[in-house]
Amino acid sequence: MNTLPIRQSVVNLCVKLSHLGYLAGTGGNIALRIDADRFAVTPSAIDYLSMHADDVCVVRLTDLQCIEGDRTPSVETSLHARVFRLRPDVSCSIHTHQPVASACALLGRTLEVDDEATRQIIGPYVPLIGYMPSGTALLAGMVGRAIAPDLNAYLMRNHGVLCCGASLEAAVASINALEGLARRHLAKRIAEQISTHPRRAVALHRVLQTLESS
Ligand SMILES: [Zn+2]
Repeated sequence: MNTLPIRQSVVNLCVKLSHLGYLAGTGGNIALRIDADRFAVTPSAIDYLSMHADDVCVVRLTDLQCIEGDRTPSVETSLHARVFRLRPDVSCSIHTHQPVASACALLGRTLEVDDEATRQIIGPYVPLIGYMPSGTALLAGMVGRAIAPDLNAYLMRNHGVLCCGASLEAAVASINALEGLARRHLAKRIAEQISTHPRRAVALHRVLQTLESS
């Protein structure tokens, strides 16, 4: 099977997410399932806006062996593999350092989903995965323990987020839904601070305006 079309889909998705501000430089990574045994994954340390389909790696799900592509697969390849193994329904797994949801990941709390439309996309809540250094088996293990059938978005403490979906489009919808939820959550917290700390109101209003215009 020619894997070039699916590797090109990874390139297109990286460009799209970069333009949306969800991927910046070499930060974040994407994996797209090819079949039951293989998935395509972004290479390590590459600028996504100058990446080509040939740069995208094809990796075997069982042992993470790179079977196509000359580059080194992303450091988070084992993390995406965990998602694919634990969620046979998932075709696309995305890890980003997207700005607002990553700010929420610094707060160290699970996010409750506050509306039905978002719940339909990412599930009833967004769990917080504890901190472990990037690219480690410890992080992949922690992610593995958090993955649940009805949850398509996860906060990674002091790091970023992980989203997934049954298709590439569904995974992008999870990314968008999570960022919107995080924005509403932070705006609500800032508004609460304004009412309880009137002396800091001017500074907090400025933060709120920045958040709403970002
Ligand atoms: Zn990361």
